Amino acid sequence: MYSTNGFFNHFGGKYVAEILRRPLDELEAAFKHFMSSQEFLDELHEIQRDYIGRETPLLFAPKATELLGGAKIYIKLEGLANTGAHKINNAIGQVLLAKHMGKKRIIAETGAGQHGLATAAACAKLGMDCTVYMGEVDVRRQQPNVAAMETYGAKVCAVTSGARTLKDAVNEAMRDWAAHPDDTHYVLGSALGPAPFPDIVRTFQSVIGNEVKRQCAERKIEIGAMVACVGGGSNSIGFFSPFIDEKSPRLIGAEAGGIGPNIGENASRMTGNASREGIVQGYKSRFLLDEDGQSLPTRSISAGLDYMGIGPQLAALGESGRVEFMSILDKEALEAVQFFAKNEGVLFALESAHAGAAAMKIAKQVPKDKAVIINMSGRGDKDIFITSPVFRPKEWKAFLESELERLNEEKDIHQAKLMGGNK
Ligand SMILES: *Cc1c(COP(=O)(O)O)cnc(C)c1O
Repeated sequence: MYSTNGFFNHFGGKYVAEILRRPLDELEAAFKHFMSSQEFLDELHEIQRDYIGRETPLLFAPKATELLGGAKIYIKLEGLANTGAHKINNAIGQVLLAKHMGKKRIIAETGAGQHGLATAAACAKLGMDCTVYMGEVDVRRQQPNVAAMETYGAKVCAVTSGARTLKDAVNEAMRDWAAHPDDTHYVLGSALGPAPFPDIVRTFQSVIGNEVKRQCAERKIEIGAMVACVGGGSNSIGFFSPFIDEKSPRLIGAEAGGIGPNIGENASRMTGNASREGIVQGYKSRFLLDEDGQSLPTRSISAGLDYMGIGPQLAALGESGRVEFMSILDKEALEAVQFFAKNEGVLFALESAHAGAAAMKIAKQVPKDKAVIINMSGRGDKDIFITSPVFRPKEWKAFLESELERLNEEKDIHQAKLMGGNK
C-alpha cells in the first residue's frame, strides 16, 4: 500500500529543489515514528472522536435504491465531519504530527478555501499559529471561506504572483517552507505533491475506508462498488484504501467533466483528451498540459475538483485498471444534488455530487443484493452561492441586491454598536 521510495509504479517521487529535501526527509522520519507510537495514535483517535465527530454514519438510501432500480445505495456521510467535509481528517492528522515534531507554525495552500478552512480550524483546536496562502483572485471570489479562516484565527496571505490562483499559492507555500524549515510545517491539502505527502494524506484519510469496511462487516453489507469524486484525490484514496489490494469491490473515481470534452472545459485528468504525463510541483503524475508541458486551463462547477493534477497513486491505479474513472458533467452533478436532497434529505457538496451522479449511472450494473457506496465527501451548505444562481436566479439576485442595500443603510449605526465602537 505504501509507496516504494515515494513511487507508485512510475508515478510520484520527490522532484524538489535541494533546499526542500531535508524538511521532506525529516517529515517522513517523523511520520513513521509517530504512526507507530501508541500515545500519538491514542491522542489522534480521541480528537477524531470528540472534535471531528467520528465515526461518520453509513446511511442506507431506500428511495434512491428503488428509483435507480439496481444495487442497494448507501451514502458515507463524511459531510457530517466538523467543518463540513473530509479535509479535516488530513488537517488534524498533519497539525498534530507537526505539534509532536516541535513545530510552532503551520502554513497551507488553498484554492477554493476548503483546505485552508480545515487547516485553520485544526490549528485553532491544537493551538498552532496558522498562515494560509491563497491566490488573490481566489481571495476575492471565496470570501465566505476567507471570513471563516480569519474567524478561526488564521492569517490569510493573498498571493499576487502568476495567475494568482491555486498553483501560485502552492509555490508561495513551498517558498515559505524552504525559508523556515525548522519551526514550520507545510500542511499539503490532497494526496499529491512530493513524497512523503501522498502516503501521509492517504493514511490520515483512510479512516474513511476503514470505517466503511467495519460498518459493512457489522451490518453484513456486501459491497459491489465504491464511488468517490476525485480532485487531487484525498477523499477517494482514503475511501478506497483498505480495498485496493483486494479484487473486489469495483472502485470508481468521478472526475469533473465540466461543460464538455474540449480543452479548458473540464478537469478530466484520467479520461480527458488533454491528459499527459508530467512532473509538476514536485511529483510525477497525469496532468492537463499542453505540448510544451505548460498547464492548461481547467473548469468545473465544483471548486474542489477544478484542478490540473491528480495524486500519483490514483494515476497508477487508473493505469493498472484497479480504479475506473468516469467523467461527470456539471449538469449531471447539479441533477444529483437535487436527486439526493429530494429523495434522501441529504444535501451533497457539488464535488461529492459527481460521485452521486456516477453512482446513479452504474447502479443498474451492480446486482440487487450488493451495495454501491457513495462517499459524500462534503455537505452542500457551502455551495449556496453557486447553486442558487442556477436553481433560482431571479430570487437570488433580488436577495443579494437587498442585502447590499441593507448593508449600505445600516452600516454606520450597527457595526459601530456590535464592535464596541472600535471599527
Ligand atoms: C476539496 C474537496 C474535494 C476534492 O479533493 P480530494 O483531495 O480529491 O478529496 C472533494 N470534496 C470536497 C467536499 C472538497 O472540499
